[in-house]
Amino acid sequence: MREVLVVGSANADLVVAAERRPSGGETVLGGDTTVLPGGKGANTAVAAAKLGADVALLGAVGDDAYGRMLTESLLAAGVRTDLLATVARPTGIAYITVTPDGENSILVSPGANAALEPSAVEGALTGVKVMVASMEIPLPTVERAVAAAAEAGACALLNLSPAAAVSARTLAALDVLLVNEHEAAWLLGSGAEPAKLLELGPRSAVVTLGARGALVITGDGLTEVASPKVEAVDTTGAGDAFTGALAASLATGVTLETAARKAVRVAAISVTRQGAQPSYPAAEELSAG
Ligand code: AMP
Repeated sequence: MREVLVVGSANADLVVAAERRPSGGETVLGGDTTVLPGGKGANTAVAAAKLGADVALLGAVGDDAYGRMLTESLLAAGVRTDLLATVARPTGIAYITVTPDGENSILVSPGANAALEPSAVEGALTGVKVMVASMEIPLPTVERAVAAAAEAGACALLNLSPAAAVSARTLAALDVLLVNEHEAAWLLGSGAEPAKLLELGPRSAVVTLGARGALVITGDGLTEVASPKVEAVDTTGAGDAFTGALAASLATGVTLETAARKAVRVAAISVTRQGAQPSYPAAEELSAG
């Protein structure tokens, strides 16, 4: 039995600081490389597990040192890894260059994540309350996971990040479509009413608004959920923190608005600390706050 099933990517984040990013044909010397556990799926699963949810990650890593590092970080956070396959491809890697202006440029080598087949979803939804998928894995696998969640009567949540063209059928099978402002503009065109997201088919939607919090959209209307004011030091993985917290809360049976109120608190804490997974708060920290 698992309450929350995350279907998504696991990547090793290789982070290097440099004065500037190299242009074509150029070599630039940077600082030491930091290796961190990442990938939208793994981050989401860790965020939900740290809040006390019973979570499994359905994903794929390679039979290599990065795959073992990722598996260990998931287990340390309390994520079940029985649905994390080891495949004959290298573990996914995100090559991240950080420049002094704070800007990241990221090149992702999907590796094992690209080998996550739709068939991996079969049988995985038994007993699941909330299935949450994100997009760094093959689109047919995301679409199968959403359909399987709907068939199993689980709440189907899709974090459409990075934005990609999913079928109308998949959008219509969603309980919650979760996007940031850029992804919402990609879906609707810039300047469109966020409420129009429901015209694409999901029963409800959430748009994250960075420091401003989030917008919850249901058939009853729009609700703004303000973020606590914090000093942001690193927003890496904030969207994944929000996604994991939303899924963990929904699994306890609360409304989408209540879940979003918790998710903005979790994501706000995450931006006050460096990194993605290490920045996510545990349940005790939230209740203390
Ligand atoms: P975004 O993907 O930028 O919309 O961020 C996702 C979520 O992270 C937001 O809905 C907020 O809850 C949180 N967040 C991001 N940036 C900040 C910030 N500067 N201050 C507080 N919360 C933030």
